[in-house]
Amino acid sequence: MSFTRINGHGHILPEPKQIPQFMKDKKLFWIDDDKKFMRQGSWSRPITDPSFFLKDKLIWMEKNKIDHGVMLNLSQVYCNGWSRQDAIDAIRWQNDFNAFVQNENPTKFTCGFVVQPNFMDEALAEIERCVVELGMKLLCLPTHYLNKNEEWVSVADESCFPIYELANKYKLAIEIHPYDAPKMIKLKDENWRFHLVWMMAQTADTLHLFTLKNIPNKFPNVRVCFAHGCMLGQANYGRRVQGFEGRPDLFKGAEHPKTTLGHPNLFFDTLVHDPYTLQLLKHRVGVSQIVSGLDDPYPLGEMESVGDCYPGKVIDDAVNLNILTENDSKLIWKDNVLNWLG
Ligand SMILES: [Zn+2]
Repeated sequence: MSFTRINGHGHILPEPKQIPQFMKDKKLFWIDDDKKFMRQGSWSRPITDPSFFLKDKLIWMEKNKIDHGVMLNLSQVYCNGWSRQDAIDAIRWQNDFNAFVQNENPTKFTCGFVVQPNFMDEALAEIERCVVELGMKLLCLPTHYLNKNEEWVSVADESCFPIYELANKYKLAIEIHPYDAPKMIKLKDENWRFHLVWMMAQTADTLHLFTLKNIPNKFPNVRVCFAHGCMLGQANYGRRVQGFEGRPDLFKGAEHPKTTLGHPNLFFDTLVHDPYTLQLLKHRVGVSQIVSGLDDPYPLGEMESVGDCYPGKVIDDAVNLNILTENDSKLIWKDNVLNWLG
């Protein structure tokens, strides 16, 4: 493999001792000293791979010929429903940590920073701090946030437009990633349904509003990537068009979904687990809008520890099935990621 491979979607955990004491004292987020579990309140999740941590992540990247990785924020620290001060403190710590990882390893990582739209003044100030002081250029947003009235709101809502205005000024890349589905959907938590089904709906829901509000054209300097290929968003395009045309009374002032289909500033990652879903993504938006995304080191990411999976499997499968060419694969691994990041 001679060309550069950039992974456009990964996550990294701090070492237990890099998490400040208040995070554990307030049960906001912490990691056991033996590094076996990450925890938040009464929630916990096993740490299933050594490459959750920086040193082993670098070894894992070397082994899998990943030259550079885009590390998003920790989903557990979107801070939905947290108090103002807890959100400010945790987000500042999280962003400082990601800036540290990026600035210590600039050839290896581009790291994202996160803000919480419920506290808009603080969110805008944090964008300024991360861009100007910390040298970051990738803003991470959850698909939805909990507002002051305790309503779940998409980040495509007008209440978030000041964020896009500032991102537009700084020509930022944005990643939109789902989390917190169990808090939005009143269903029993079983068989990982919130990750396997509802996360896909969360991302599709935000793409729905994002295109109806014509955000890609309103903020033309911003390049947005939707996680996990926004796979349901690709599959239900036809239904959204049907609805838009069938009930125009429900879409007053909204833009037709086709206006931004394949828009050059809308990107989608490859983490769809199925070459035929990737084929649909290519058909909808074109190869130029697809970026590699491994979602490592989670077990829903392309990890060699899961079955016959390995990093880059779905791209290779698509090449083997003649869904993508070798050249498409190179663009997805490198040029398209760079175009998204800017
Ligand atoms: Zn992820």
